Amino acid sequence: MSECIFCKIAKGEISAEFVYKDETVFVIRDVNPQAPTHLLVIPTQHIASAADAGDPEIWTSIMGRAVEVARDLGLDKEGFRMVVNTGVQSGQTVPHIHLHLLSGRNFGWPPG
Ligand code: AMP
Repeated sequence: MSECIFCKIAKGEISAEFVYKDETVFVIRDVNPQAPTHLLVIPTQHIASAADAGDPEIWTSIMGRAVEVARDLGLDKEGFRMVVNTGVQSGQTVPHIHLHLLSGRNFGWPPG
């Protein structure tokens, strides 16, 4: 989608700090980190939210890549949190599916 910020990042029209990229998924550092490590795992295909993801394969690429990156960076040693905000009440601000991969501090439960 032409005006979507994550589509623009995928096309190189907006810069971002890439950690991983292939044809189906990319991983960038969040511009406003909420933890010492805060990455976004984003499918290249524009899908507005998790509620709009019809093909379960999308989760294979997102979750699979998130865990691969977490292991590669050693985040699995102390632990990490994965979050997919979906819709207004969840706090989703960018309408293009993305998974937050957060690590490097203790996280509370229940989440805020
Ligand atoms: P959400 O609120 O779940 O939709 O998450 C959107 C995330 O995208 C937020 O954590 C933002 O800080 C992050 N974000 C927005 N614009 C950019 C950008 N240009 N580069 C990296 N992260 C971004």
